[in-house]
Amino acid sequence: MSLNKVRVRFAPSPTGPLHMGGVRTALYNYLFAKKNNGTFILRIEDTDQTRFVKGAQDYILDAFKWCGITPDEGPGIGGEYGPYIQSERKDIYHEYAQILIDTNKAYYAFDTSDELTKMRDEAKKMGMPNWQYNGVSRMNMRNSLTLPQSEVETLIANNTPYVIRMKMPRNEDVRFEDEIRGWVVVNTNNLDDKVLFKSDGMPTYHLANIVDDHAMEISHVIRGEEWLPSAPLHVLLYDALNWERPKFAHLPLLLRPDGNGKLSKRDGDRLGFPVFPLDWTTIDGELYSGYREKGYFPEAFINMLAFLGWNPGTQQEIFSLKELSNAFSLERVSKGGAKFDPDKTKWFQQQYIRATSAEDLSKMLGNNFPTEVVDSEKETICSLMKERATFLDDILKDGAYLFDRPKEYDEKVIAKKWKAHTAGLIEDWVKIIEEINEFSAANIESEFKAFLEEKELGFGAVLLPFRLLVTGVGAGPGMFDIAEFLGKEEVLTRIKSGLLNIKQIKNEA
Ligand code: GLU
Repeated sequence: MSLNKVRVRFAPSPTGPLHMGGVRTALYNYLFAKKNNGTFILRIEDTDQTRFVKGAQDYILDAFKWCGITPDEGPGIGGEYGPYIQSERKDIYHEYAQILIDTNKAYYAFDTSDELTKMRDEAKKMGMPNWQYNGVSRMNMRNSLTLPQSEVETLIANNTPYVIRMKMPRNEDVRFEDEIRGWVVVNTNNLDDKVLFKSDGMPTYHLANIVDDHAMEISHVIRGEEWLPSAPLHVLLYDALNWERPKFAHLPLLLRPDGNGKLSKRDGDRLGFPVFPLDWTTIDGELYSGYREKGYFPEAFINMLAFLGWNPGTQQEIFSLKELSNAFSLERVSKGGAKFDPDKTKWFQQQYIRATSAEDLSKMLGNNFPTEVVDSEKETICSLMKERATFLDDILKDGAYLFDRPKEYDEKVIAKKWKAHTAGLIEDWVKIIEEINEFSAANIESEFKAFLEEKELGFGAVLLPFRLLVTGVGAGPGMFDIAEFLGKEEVLTRIKSGLLNIKQIKNEA
C-alpha cells in the first residue's frame, strides 16, 4: 500500500455540537481533497462512550448539509472502507494492540484507578504535581513489565481488568515534518505511556485513530493544533506497526477577538456572536446560538471560516466554495493562531446579501412579507433595501416604511435638522410635487434640484426633512427611488400628516 492518492478525513467525536473551529477543520479537509482530486471522508470517533452526547452526530451531518460540505465517504453515505463509525469497528482494534504487545511495544497494566490516584497524590505531596505513567514510574507499578510472567498470565486468565499501555521508548527523538509547521522534534522522555486499549474492551482515541487512518488509507491528517502533542505518539505507533505514516498538518487555533486565548464555546454568546454553525440546545435547556439561525448565509459563513487561518495571497476576499477548492493550499495556511473577528464576519454576510439578486432575496423572504405587500412590489423592496442590509430580516425591518406609514419620527434628526423655516420650505416643495406628472425618481430629482437652485439652498436643508416626513428616519436608500416606489399620492399624504406630527412635537418641546 502506498498513500499516493489524496484521502483525508474529518474525525469528530460526538461529544457535543460541532464548534466553528471543527467546521473549519472539516472545510480545510474538504478543500484539500477537492483541490487534489482526492476523497473526503467523515469518520465518527465514538470510542469514549462516557462522553457520548445524543444528537451530536446528527448535528454534524446537519451542519455539513447547511454548509454544502459533502463527504465522499462516511456514515449514511457509504464507501469501500466502512463502517465509518468507530463503535461499529470495535472488533478490529484489539488485534493491533496484541501485535504491539507481542512486539514489546506495549504492555499490560493492572493498576486500579485507586492505585493510580494514590500514586498521583503521593507524588503531589513530594512536590511533583504532574505525575505520569512513564518510562521511569512504570517500574514501580503493577504491569507486565514488573510482574512475573506467570502472574500476568493468571491475572489475565482470571479476567482481572487491565489496560494496554504504550511502552514509550527512552530518550529517543521522534521527528516528523508537519506540512504547516515544518520539522517537529520531540524527545520521548517527555512523553508518557498512554493507554491504547481500555479495560472496557474499547481502544482509546490514539489507537483507534491510527488503526482507522491506516485502514482507510488516509494520506494527510489535517486537524487542529490541539492534537499536535498527540502526533509523536501516533508517529511512533505507525512505525511500531510498520505502517507508512500519513502526512500531518496541524491547523492554527481560533483565537478570541481580543486575541487572548482560544475561542471557546462560552465566548460566543457572551461576546455577542455565535461559535456554532447551528443552534444547539443542551439537555438542560441551555441554548447556544448558531450562524444559521442568526440569519447568516452558509456561503458567507464558509467564506469567513476559510479566511480564519488561510489566505489566497491576493486581494480577493469573496470566494465561492468552488473557488476556494481551486485556490486552497496547505502552504498558505498560517502557523499562528487566527483571531476571530465578528465585524468581519458581518461584513462577509453583507457582501453576500448585496450580491444576491432582488429576485432571489424576494423568493427567500417568501411568506415573510406582510400581506399588504403585493407581489409586484416585493423585488423593488429588496433592491431598495439590500445595499444597507446585513441579514434578510433587515430588508423588512429597516424597510418597514415602504409598506407602513411612519408612526414616529426620529427625534434626533428633528432636533438637529428641523429649523424654523423648514416647514415653509416643505410646503413649497409640496406644491411642486403636486405638479409632477410622471412621478419617476429621475423627474422628482430634477424638479427637486431646480427647486433648490431657485431657493438657493443646499441639498440637505430640504432632502433630510423630506425623508424624515416620508420614512420617519434620517437615512436609507435613495430618497427619489423611495418616492417613486410609494407614488405621488402616498408621498403627499405622508408629508402632510408628517408635518402635522412634527409641528406638534416641536410645540410640545
Ligand atoms: N476525534 C478527534 C477529535 O474529536 C480527532 C482528532 C484527529 O483528527 O485526529 O477531534
